[in-house]
Amino acid sequence: SGTNSPAEACQSVKVLVKVRPVLESDANKGVCLAYNDSGIQVSTVLSKEKGKTITDVKKFEFDRIFGSESSIDDLFYDITPSLNMVANGGRACILAYGQTGSGKTHTMNEVLSKSVEALKLLIGTDCQIFLNCIEIYNEQVRNLLSNDALSKNWKEIIEMAEVKLDNEWYDQSLVLIQQAALKRSTKFTESNSSSSRSHCIYTLKIVKGKDTGIIQFVDLAGSERISKSKASGDVLKETLLINKSLSALQDVIAALESKQSHIPYRNSMLTRILQQTLGGEESMVTVILNCSPCEESSGETICTLALGTRLR
Ligand code: ADP
Ligand code: MG
Repeated sequence: SGTNSPAEACQSVKVLVKVRPVLESDANKGVCLAYNDSGIQVSTVLSKEKGKTITDVKKFEFDRIFGSESSIDDLFYDITPSLNMVANGGRACILAYGQTGSGKTHTMNEVLSKSVEALKLLIGTDCQIFLNCIEIYNEQVRNLLSNDALSKNWKEIIEMAEVKLDNEWYDQSLVLIQQAALKRSTKFTESNSSSSRSHCIYTLKIVKGKDTGIIQFVDLAGSERISKSKASGDVLKETLLINKSLSALQDVIAALESKQSHIPYRNSMLTRILQQTLGGEESMVTVILNCSPCEESSGETICTLALGTRLR
């Protein structure tokens, strides 16, 4: 799926894989991934006995796989059709999916700044630009650019979160996006939780003449399952709501892919808010599956890749 021509671009879903590099903090952890341009395999060590290692190998195929040695420019090449679409009044949604620590925020930040840069060249200043940065935590919407939630109604919160940018919209949006990201992370540190428990959505609206293009960049909450014994109270509630919203997202994408007449947007706050860009006549959806190369993550990586396979 995924071409540049508007007719075929209609309701197309592209699934890309991004493997993050091995970090210094990963030292001695062991690597479980091997890949080429479109195939990836995950090895899980089942046992190590008498010098014999028994591994289970699972293989997956995708539109494109970006290894830890690839640059953001390689991945960005696959985002460009979405930006062309949005510059011409269409819709696009770019989502980063994966467990905590797999590189979602890193990838999305790079994609965001490169996208704004590219849009600047595509649309110039002869247009009106609106930006909102919000997060969804426990199904509640929060404005990441201001403290006061004067309304409890999610549509109102989003309306109030919208900032109209001026002629310097390019620099302005990057500053606001940075502020939003900072607010997201500091707030969670204070509450002794982690920013990976919320979905973060940056929406850029471009009004040019009669056309309105909309693009949403989504840094999803960590997809990891938490062992039943460990999860209780607030963490259990968070986890259940994250799982519910991620599966609502899968259902919406699956319904779009199979061209169903009813798309179940109303099953979660995430899908309600993404309804503007998920689906419709001229829309492109890109799911970036973020993966850690570490052996200890092989179980979660298999879940992520299996989900991506179901979306294709
Ligand atoms: P997530 O948002 O999925 O929890 P992060 O984006 O925070 O993951 O990434 C986890 C760690 O890996 C961070 O320290 C981040 O800087 C690092 N990292 C992720 N992707 C890359 C990359 N492409 N290049 C260098 N470091 C990366
Ligand atoms: Mg993150």
